[in-house]
Amino acid sequence: MKIDISDIKRGNVKSKSFHISQAFLLLSDIEYSDIQIGGEVIDNHTALEVTGEIAVAAKYVCGRCLEPFTVSIHLSFHESFRELGSVSGVDDAERFSYQGDSIDVSGLVQTELVLNEPITRICSSECRGLCPVCGVNLNQQTCECKTDSVNPQFAALQQLLDKKKS
Ligand SMILES: [Zn+2]
Ligand SMILES: [Zn+2]
Repeated sequence: MKIDISDIKRGNVKSKSFHISQAFLLLSDIEYSDIQIGGEVIDNHTALEVTGEIAVAAKYVCGRCLEPFTVSIHLSFHESFRELGSVSGVDDAERFSYQGDSIDVSGLVQTELVLNEPITRICSSECRGLCPVCGVNLNQQTCECKTDSVNPQFAALQQLLDKKKS
């Protein structure tokens, strides 16, 4: 995921727009597809400001029913990149740097995606999950198990309590 900045470095232009697609990205257990990254690089003398947007489809596994589902993610970002070894001095707090005639935004994109990761991964707020007794996917099937009074999320706890009693 590199942006060619040779024109900016030669001083021909002060800014440049970019668009990256068909990038490959794999983060932990999440599958990303249809990655589109677009924006602008602006030279502000001490650093290059990169502003843009990320659009991607992320495939998760539902925490309730364990079925895969896809979510469209749309994020915007604004970060500055400093040249490695530049005289202006790179302080350690600076998260991003570049070298040569291109900026690699892979690290930036990954950071943004990780920071904006949904906390709960559920295919739908209506998801009925798996039956805690027989394990069928209750979105697709029904079963005869007696779970009426037990919230599936507390089923494991209930089982522990039952064990203690016996
Ligand atoms: Zn689900
Ligand atoms: Zn069941």
